[in-house]
Amino acid sequence: MGLTSLEIAPLIDDLVLVIDSQDQVLYASEMGQSLGLISATQVARPEITALIDRAREGHTVKNDLVELRRPLPARGIVALGISIAVLPDGSCFFVGRDLTAAQRLEQVRRDFVANISHELKTPVGALSVLMEAVVEAGDDVAAVSKFVNRMQTELVRLNNMVRDLIDLSRVQSDDPLASPTAVPMDRVVSEAVESVQFAAEGRGITIGTTGDQGAFVAGDEMQLVAALRNLLTNAISYSSDNTQVSVGVRIHENEVDITVADQGIGISRVNQERIFERFYRVDQARSRATGGTGLGLAIVKNVCMNHGGEVSVWSVVGEGSTFTLRFPLFKPAPPTPETDFEQVSSIRPTESKGRFSS
Ligand code: ADP
Repeated sequence: MGLTSLEIAPLIDDLVLVIDSQDQVLYASEMGQSLGLISATQVARPEITALIDRAREGHTVKNDLVELRRPLPARGIVALGISIAVLPDGSCFFVGRDLTAAQRLEQVRRDFVANISHELKTPVGALSVLMEAVVEAGDDVAAVSKFVNRMQTELVRLNNMVRDLIDLSRVQSDDPLASPTAVPMDRVVSEAVESVQFAAEGRGITIGTTGDQGAFVAGDEMQLVAALRNLLTNAISYSSDNTQVSVGVRIHENEVDITVADQGIGISRVNQERIFERFYRVDQARSRATGGTGLGLAIVKNVCMNHGGEVSVWSVVGEGSTFTLRFPLFKPAPPTPETDFEQVSSIRPTESKGRFSS
């Protein structure tokens, strides 16, 4: 039998090859084709033929990891866990499981854990050094007071980090659309603005609110408030004193946009592509000085994804930034005399739940 019997079976997601004792490919699943493993009637990739030879020599080939470059024009590497069974006549049954996504996830998890350890170690390390300094300072009241002040700063940092880690883990695991409520965006805006008002006033920054009223979004009010609060906190942190921050709401046919615009330091184009990554900061020192954790925008992005929305940024260095949250608009069916609001929609207006992190 030659390649004429080679079938493409789209139902099989894994890589499956049947190869006879003369190295002729009798069967290849779709992945074998798309990865360019087969040329004419034979396996064309040396990494794969080497494994087949090993199996034929009597070695166990079970879940062996092989990384293959995808053929052009596709890009990237595909990771396969390969197992080969050799039949008595030398023909082979070959299975490759695509482990690319699992491997990427594992890498992200490892990086995240490494980042958290580093981020937590910094304030904890500083605290233990400061503790020793306090003990050594003994009766020197001025020195003790200086060290205690610095301990307070580190504690705030630690507290912010733990708070943001909890928020991030919640928004990553919760699915607000599984049991959504109709959240009034007017209230989301006023709650978020109110929560940062004190910090803004301390810096002489005024927060103005403009735009449309009456928008509803299906989802979780605490998450939506947290997202907007994070944007406002950043707008204040990365702006000079006595500037302005404005929150705008714009209702479109099927979506609502909430923008937060500042007159702050701005973000370069290269950095705009990275700021939504966990722990990414443009200026580490400035972020630390303002109690930043590098998690605020990652939380915002997750909240948007959870609500079927998106976040985008427009910015010019030295002029300012505008972040836009876009959510699908929730439009409740108008209640009829026979049916009240609860009956026409399983989504009900929420009661205010206060802050996200309690
Ligand atoms: P952080 O806790 O450091 O503020 P975020 O995830 O909220 O972390 O933001 C990531 C980085 O993006 C910040 O460290 C800062 O460099 C940049 N950034 C975010 N918002 C703004 C803004 N409004 N103006 C300028 N830079 C910003």
